[in-house]
Amino acid sequence: ADYYRVDAWGDGFFVVNARGHMAVRPHGDDTLQIDIQDILAELRDRGIRFPALLRFQDVLRARVGRLNRAFIEAIEEAGYDNVYHTVYPIKVNQLHEVVEEVLDAGKPYGLGLECGSRAELVATLAHLESDETLLLCNGVKDRSMLSLILSSQRLGKNVIPIMEKYAEFEELVHLADEADQATQFGVRIRLRTSGSGKWADSGGYQSKFGISLPELMRVVDVLRDSDQGHRLALLHFHLGSQISEIPQLRQAARELAHIYAELIGLGLPIRYIDVGGGLGVNYTDASEEGGIRYSLNEYANAVVYAIKEVCDEREVPHPVLVSESGRAITAHHSVLVIETIDAYRKNNADAEPELPGDAHRIAENLDRTLAWLRDTEAGQASVAEVIEAYHDVVDNQEEAATLFAMGYLSLEQNATIERMYWSSCTAVLEHLRALDPEYAPPEVQQLEELLVDQYLVDFSVFQSMLDHWAIEQPFPVVPLARLDERPTRRGMLVDLTCDSDGKMTQYVTADEDKKFVRLHPLNPGEAYPLGIFLMGAYQDIMGDSHNLFGRVSEAHIYADAEEDGNFWIEKVIPGQKVEDILAQVQYFPNDLHRRMQQQVKQKIDAGEMRPKRGMEILDQYKAAFAEETYLVNARVPRKAEE
Ligand code: PLP
Repeated sequence: ADYYRVDAWGDGFFVVNARGHMAVRPHGDDTLQIDIQDILAELRDRGIRFPALLRFQDVLRARVGRLNRAFIEAIEEAGYDNVYHTVYPIKVNQLHEVVEEVLDAGKPYGLGLECGSRAELVATLAHLESDETLLLCNGVKDRSMLSLILSSQRLGKNVIPIMEKYAEFEELVHLADEADQATQFGVRIRLRTSGSGKWADSGGYQSKFGISLPELMRVVDVLRDSDQGHRLALLHFHLGSQISEIPQLRQAARELAHIYAELIGLGLPIRYIDVGGGLGVNYTDASEEGGIRYSLNEYANAVVYAIKEVCDEREVPHPVLVSESGRAITAHHSVLVIETIDAYRKNNADAEPELPGDAHRIAENLDRTLAWLRDTEAGQASVAEVIEAYHDVVDNQEEAATLFAMGYLSLEQNATIERMYWSSCTAVLEHLRALDPEYAPPEVQQLEELLVDQYLVDFSVFQSMLDHWAIEQPFPVVPLARLDERPTRRGMLVDLTCDSDGKMTQYVTADEDKKFVRLHPLNPGEAYPLGIFLMGAYQDIMGDSHNLFGRVSEAHIYADAEEDGNFWIEKVIPGQKVEDILAQVQYFPNDLHRRMQQQVKQKIDAGEMRPKRGMEILDQYKAAFAEETYLVNARVPRKAEE
């Protein structure tokens, strides 16, 4: 029933409703539910174009609440003698409204921010709610950044630069001395423990960042020699995103806690332990590779108990706990809605004309095999007979390709043979499936892959889901309606870019083979929008402008708490226009228009075009600057599919 595995990744925020539509549950529980089709209808009424990213601001708030409550419960249960703060790493999603919403939702919990570059530092510094709000500065920092951080500390802000390299520490001390200013800072430790999975290299001895233990001891010596031990405020590790194993986290937390205890023993009154990011989100079934088999509560318990146990053993005070959880806060809150433009089926039985009397020998061979396959009742022919027929079909098709390349076959003959080839393949597959659903010789696998339909969808994989292209991160794709109807087609989504990589190659489904997704045949004149879920972390910001497809439209949606099913769209941000994306690569309308004008003028001057027609072409060209980069008027499926 749950073919798209909504229960596995929805985490209570998404369900299929009684109308067979996808619905969002803004609070992650059964208090409120919004039908996504209703949102699409309102967006269409307001003239919003798809692809569009729907941001559910309530979901962001709910995630912040869940995370903090998990730590509060763990702290109470363990009798931990200090507090926890989330620090939101804005690199996961820097959109201003996302950051503001997270900050607002986190106010009761003392949530802070994390930045990792100059631009992020500039953005975050202005958003610190109070002097207590933490701002952690990771990443490589130059003198100008360190100096700005020192100035913000002088302003009384709780900003902690985290030293990633020993040289950075030297630079900071030098600048602080020059300014005659005391400074607080943290250190990212290169632990022995590393994570696992796609992001494992973020931790361990091989990690890109971090200070080794010998370097840490040099830091300690410098501080103690100058009586500045109290400047070291925070110890940090980061195991990498999507921590898959809780024992690794526990081990890393214990390792860092021992370092903390040692430093306390050396007289350095460190206040914070920061366990970095890595709190995982399930994009697929937890049982699959890369699945997250722990809950938020288990994560919080692991951190709290591991650090408490070490501190108690070593009789040192419990530090303030900090985590830099980004993905776990933002992933669920946005859904990308894309429109299906067309579905391309290789085998189209409706369009099969009779074989002409003078058909080529190969076409006749195929016709005989096809007739046998069709006349034999499914389940009546043996596997060996069907496989033999399939090999016959393949041989004939290969011979046709050779003859065509040598000029012995006309285009028309070749087209007929190609059509019969696909029909025969479909018939073979139907026989094999009917004979034994468990039976999977290589031929079946080959045919399954050959015969999937291509669903052309209006978006760019590179702009909207870069991690899918780059690291094969799966994202759940679900039709937003017709979920009470069996999806009978096996499809693959292909995007608008002129790039063979511009497609989705992995799906989240109940099928064993994840290379396709079951979808519905398109109904003529009826839109078939799909939702791509869990897009809120990293994807928004990493988008690439391949083929100059730009940022998609966005709508920020809030649930109406008074009335179930109701919502309001607080803000709509139209997608990037052609002129915006062109400006990124240094093309500007005036110059482009002038160049076009010259070309048109030449034609007019040469008498090859009437001036009126020339002006019309120029107007048409000019109008395209203000259009969005995605398809403007191919919004609904154009033809019947079944
Ligand atoms: N902190 C640091 C130092 C990171 O490099 C990252 C990203 O990998 C994060 C926090 C956020 O991690 P996540 O999104 O897994 O919570």
